[in-house]
Amino acid sequence: MAEFSIIERYFNRKQNAAVDLGVGDDSALLTPPPNQQLVICVDTLIAGRHFPLDTPPHAVGWKSVAVNLSDIAAMAAKPHSILLALSLPNIDEEWLAEFSSGLYECCEKYGVNLIGGDTTQSPHLTISVTALGFIEQGKAVTRSGAKVGDLVVVSGSVGDAAFALEHLGHPLQQRLDYPTPRCELGLLLKGLASSMIDVSDGLAQDLGHILEASQVGAKIDLEKLPIKPELSHLPENQQWKYALAGGDDYELCFTINMQNYEKLLQLQPNVTTTIIGQITQAQHLVFEKDGLDHPLQFQGYQHFA
Ligand code: ADP
Ligand code: MG
Repeated sequence: MAEFSIIERYFNRKQNAAVDLGVGDDSALLTPPPNQQLVICVDTLIAGRHFPLDTPPHAVGWKSVAVNLSDIAAMAAKPHSILLALSLPNIDEEWLAEFSSGLYECCEKYGVNLIGGDTTQSPHLTISVTALGFIEQGKAVTRSGAKVGDLVVVSGSVGDAAFALEHLGHPLQQRLDYPTPRCELGLLLKGLASSMIDVSDGLAQDLGHILEASQVGAKIDLEKLPIKPELSHLPENQQWKYALAGGDDYELCFTINMQNYEKLLQLQPNVTTTIIGQITQAQHLVFEKDGLDHPLQFQGYQHFA
């Protein structure tokens, strides 16, 4: 099967009116909405490294889109379209059909179009997705705006995916294979959150990026961490390790003042949000239990470890 037939069969579904020219020409064409900034990111998934080799191709398709939409959400932007660079070791039509259906399922759920890409042969299955979004000029929520006294808040639950990776077959594997990008929450936080990041490499490390960019510290209450009941049989330290140092959560961690947090709750986000601590002047990340310092030594996922 030729490259062009693969594209035609699996990656050329009809696009909506938001795209001027999609798959099939040398480049795609979009008309940016007036007074908006383009928001762009790319994430690559390598088989065996970013997902277990036996992950169902449908899940791989979903996840390759979801992880990018999570980055767009973390800027408080609205996702618009994606490009897909696919490197395949061989042409396996069954794999392609399932992968494409998972990819489009995520695209359709979040109103995103696949507008182009590249298809190549390579010994290693690699999927690289570029996502595009838009946001009103100057409204993006970056990592650098956290202020002393702001609340530190995280969406959903953390540690599920890291736990699932070590317990394949457990029901929580759904959270590893089909992460939920918090697109709606991200949009609600525009104009409300002072800083934001999506949690992909472990909450402690990712919150650390906010602290560094904002030149502040934080106090986190270990007992407030939103950990699923499925993990409650584990020793506390083990639970905290999954929650703080596990990867692949794709939740949003943001800082926000109390007044804006109340406004957020009035907007009734479609996911729970939990206050886990507060931004401090001292530029350290401190963990507390029962009001006392509780030192932990965890690291997030290291790409080049
Ligand atoms: P070119 O040789 O001009 O780079 P290609 O032959 O690589 O063009 O691709 C032809 C068209 O198909 C382009 O519009 C490209 O964006 C699109 N395309 C290629 N691979 C994919 C893919 N995996 N998913 C979606 N679109 C793709
Ligand atoms: Mg090309």
